[in-house]
Amino acid sequence: MTKRVSILGSTGSIGESTLDLVRRAGEGDIQIVSLTANSNAEKLAAQAIEFGAEFVALSDSANSDVLKSALEGTKTKVGIGPEALVEAASRETDFCMAAIIGAAGLEPTLAAVDQGIHVGLANKECLVCAGDLFMQRVKRKGATLLPVDSEHNAIFQVLERDKPEGVRRLILTASGGPFRDASMDKLRQVSRKDALNHPVWSMGAKISIDSATLMNKGLELIEASYIFDRPSSEIDVVVHPQSIIHSMVEYIDGSVLAQLGSPDMRTPIAYAMGWPDRMAAPVERLDLTKMSGLTFFNPDTEKFPALRLAREALEAGGKAPCVLNAANEIAVAAFLQNQIKFLDIPRIVESALEQHAARSCFKNAPCVVGDILATDEAARATAHEHIVSL
Ligand code: NDP
Repeated sequence: MTKRVSILGSTGSIGESTLDLVRRAGEGDIQIVSLTANSNAEKLAAQAIEFGAEFVALSDSANSDVLKSALEGTKTKVGIGPEALVEAASRETDFCMAAIIGAAGLEPTLAAVDQGIHVGLANKECLVCAGDLFMQRVKRKGATLLPVDSEHNAIFQVLERDKPEGVRRLILTASGGPFRDASMDKLRQVSRKDALNHPVWSMGAKISIDSATLMNKGLELIEASYIFDRPSSEIDVVVHPQSIIHSMVEYIDGSVLAQLGSPDMRTPIAYAMGWPDRMAAPVERLDLTKMSGLTFFNPDTEKFPALRLAREALEAGGKAPCVLNAANEIAVAAFLQNQIKFLDIPRIVESALEQHAARSCFKNAPCVVGDILATDEAARATAHEHIVSL
């Protein structure tokens, strides 16, 4: 039977890897229903034509004419603006890949969840900013959340989900990013180009910077806590530079189960899109005999405070993860525009967390989307103020 698939954020790194798998799938196995982008109208139009998409949505209206004229005379319908993204996610599908970057993905991803379908979750920020609400919605609508982040996908594969009492802890692995062994002096001088140059994974700009600060691991810690319903104290992070073991689960009998593979996002994407079956992915096969060694050590949270901040936000609960995420998005964007230095990123996040904690807005977890978006906006404003004052 043909699987009907939508991809939110199809022009990004995860979106393109997903389409690469669709391209290689058997004839008639997958039908692309909808595709979305923020502003890259040319790429979105080319994808729509190649895959015969039923609907495409562009969030930013600036390039809408480019998209409309490129698709004139085709069967693809076009929607413009953030509400068109929700429409794209609401179309009838079997699987939706949620791969928009940042909190902008929250409402479209919730719209996919509302269909009660299989949702491949790459967009960790939407879970970080709305964890409780998001997971309640998944349960209520009977959706199946398939984690695409390689670490969470690994845990999903080795976790005995129906016997949670047997689990002692989850162990997230981290490559350590491009500055794993860098001195503080080097970190003070890091350029945009240095930070975008990840040693193992090829990814979009924002997640590459998050990997360099270790905020990505912090966001993943929060993501794991919500997806697998485990407190912070039962989730450890270990640096594993080779990125061969994607994460592990330790059981109460001392067994540790790991998932291994080459560092290629097409493995977790194929797992999520094919679930509960296995789907072929053209990734380099693992040759254990060629491996010189797998190493592990503790992350340095003095040098990389972002991981500590994320753990503190998770433990504070309520709106703290939302504030952390929003301030980080603003700080990373400012770093990418050469407005601030690399070490300013965690400083801006920490100061936003302190200011919002002082206003005691962490007490209650937000229970409606409007509340989350208001917190997100307020935290972004706080981070902006800090950047302007630097
Ligand atoms: P990219 O930056 O490569 O792509 C992001 C996608 O989202 C693009 O399609 C982009 O459109 C769209 N987008 C950006 N901003 C908006 C907006 N405001 N509104 C609507 N759409 C928007 O990101 P990645 O593919 O690297 O990452 C996507 C998600 O997956 C992130 O949450 C990331 O953390 C997660 N992830 C990524 C991994 C990777 O290997 N890349 C690994 C694990 C998780 P446009 O092209 O027009 O800008």
